[in-house]
Amino acid sequence: MNRAALDSIPLTPANLAPPAPDYPWPAPYRSAMFLSFDVDAESAWTSKDAGHAERLVTMSYGAYEARVGTPKLLELLDQLGLKGTFFITGWAVDAYPAMAEAIVRAGHEIGHHGYHHLMPDPGAPFMEEEIERGFETLKRRLGVVPTGYRAPYGEFTEGLRRTLVKHGIVYTSSFRDDVRPYRHVLRDGTPGPIELPVTASYDDWMHGLSTRFSPRSIFPKEHVLSLWKDELDEVRDWGAMVTTVLHPQCSGRPMRLRLLREFLTYAKECPDLWITTGEAIAGNFLHQERAA
Ligand SMILES: [Zn+2]
Repeated sequence: MNRAALDSIPLTPANLAPPAPDYPWPAPYRSAMFLSFDVDAESAWTSKDAGHAERLVTMSYGAYEARVGTPKLLELLDQLGLKGTFFITGWAVDAYPAMAEAIVRAGHEIGHHGYHHLMPDPGAPFMEEEIERGFETLKRRLGVVPTGYRAPYGEFTEGLRRTLVKHGIVYTSSFRDDVRPYRHVLRDGTPGPIELPVTASYDDWMHGLSTRFSPRSIFPKEHVLSLWKDELDEVRDWGAMVTTVLHPQCSGRPMRLRLLREFLTYAKECPDLWITTGEAIAGNFLHQERAA
């Protein structure tokens, strides 16, 4: 870091959006859970290093998603009668069309998650192509035009925000700065997409996936349930929302599925909690925004 770099840091908040409006949830609900999944398959690994394509065991972590993880998650959601949003990379759809079709057939929402799962870093190449190719693949393979987008690795740039507005994306779900939906404000003051914020505590990868390239201790069910329930119960008291970020290559593993079943069963027993898709939550926001 040199002086010029320090002097280039703006003396304003990076996010110009005002505090989230206190719009009510649809009756009888008083809080919400955005039930969402990120389907990266092997693109989770090749996005960091294309050379992983030849490391067959590293690739096999992603392959679990199509072979076991996603079918098991779909089965669980069907048993519980829940609908969610699956943010899926274009690569995963091209490589595993049957898996992607099964998600659509089960009535879940499909969201945009890039093509090769490349991290939207300032100045990163191929970002425009990631968005366009993602749209093209979802349309060609699934007949879907997504309205929601989640950034791979949860990173964002102003250029990406502008690109998404240009392509008609209604909502994004990547920022960590709120517990209620809000509308982005672009740097030029024009409106951006609606944000459905996330928190790292509901990212299953953090507690449940360990590999050679991403080593960490795995947390037992009781620890994760305690985190997830505490966050959910406090958010319900606040009248706010939680967003899950669940990966079939993690939550589709046997003991993680058992954890998720227990958590979602608990959540379903909360009569005040609206468990739903991003499209539905963004739709409620739009409805309230127009009425206001
Ligand atoms: Zn992802």
